[in-house]
Amino acid sequence: MAATPPPRDGLLPALTDLDVEGYRALAETPGARPFTPGQVRRWVLDRGASDFAAMTDLSRPLRAELATRWRVRRGALERTYSSRDGTLGLLTRLEDGQLLESVRIPDGERHTLCISSQVGCAVACRFCASGLEGVVRNLSSGEIIEQVLMAREMAPETPLSNYVFMGSGEPTHNMEAVLRAIAVMNSPDGLGIGARRITVSTIGHPSALQRLAQVEIPFHVALSIHMPTDSGREQLMPGLGRSQLQATLAAARERFERTGRRITIEVVVLAGVNDGDEDARAFARLLSGYPALVNIIPWNPVDAIDLRAPDPQRIDALQRILNAAGVNTTVRRPRGQDVGVACGQLRRRADANSESAGN
Ligand code: SF4
Repeated sequence: MAATPPPRDGLLPALTDLDVEGYRALAETPGARPFTPGQVRRWVLDRGASDFAAMTDLSRPLRAELATRWRVRRGALERTYSSRDGTLGLLTRLEDGQLLESVRIPDGERHTLCISSQVGCAVACRFCASGLEGVVRNLSSGEIIEQVLMAREMAPETPLSNYVFMGSGEPTHNMEAVLRAIAVMNSPDGLGIGARRITVSTIGHPSALQRLAQVEIPFHVALSIHMPTDSGREQLMPGLGRSQLQATLAAARERFERTGRRITIEVVVLAGVNDGDEDARAFARLLSGYPALVNIIPWNPVDAIDLRAPDPQRIDALQRILNAAGVNTTVRRPRGQDVGVACGQLRRRADANSESAGN
């Protein structure tokens, strides 16, 4: 039987924290029938029930019994932010008062959900609002799964097609909860999301990549490189620890050779930091011949961060120099700028609002 997550602060454990084995163990609840686990699982994961009262095909006594042992969810949607381009930011209040953000991004036929893995982030990339105050805590697997459930509920008419761990937090700093959530997302007895639709974006510590390589589920991995040298990365990402670019690239390549899953390399481009021709040539030297798609991401300005977005001409130059070296590239369009949904901004804004409301 899978371990039931311990109650937090005296609260009952949440059903969303269960893995597939954990749902099966619900058959041991007094009054349960053999089909009870499947019923409960469908209510929680397919139909988005947030309380036991909604589970109308379970008997009242069984619902009452389950409610003495479990809560359904850990968090509740606090508010949403809608951008003119269709991007939707979701802010969830967690049981300990922390705020969690997720972003739903439409792009033609694709509807991508950007998922957070932690409240805050210890990597503290200089361009990112999530890292400004360090990491607050890890999310549980249920808090990760609930982001998917709530994002689905917000726009049931447009199913999500892609799920990216690119929100607040470094997923490999919360490795076990992230992998547990991915297992539930991917399982036919969970959310049934194909592995190719799931991407884990990581700073790429070689040991973390080796751990990811042991996972059978062949989800995509994206490496946040941002700078072409170890010293540059250590300056831009002060919580990274020692950058080992060559070992990172080698470990990701090994996983690619085993799973066939394409590697994506992410480069957030900042004016005067990594947008010069010399930077572009250094990226080209690093990545020429490497089996990856480079995702060039012009930085979205963030309040309280004293950096500048790059000129479009610098993005063109970077792309041209990389392409000339045989490196495949794509440029990500900035999204949700009018409502400021870049990683970490919603939580900071909501915290600032509640602080000023209290003054
Ligand atoms: S960009 Fe990612 S790794 Fe860097 S501080 Fe933000 S959430 Fe953390």
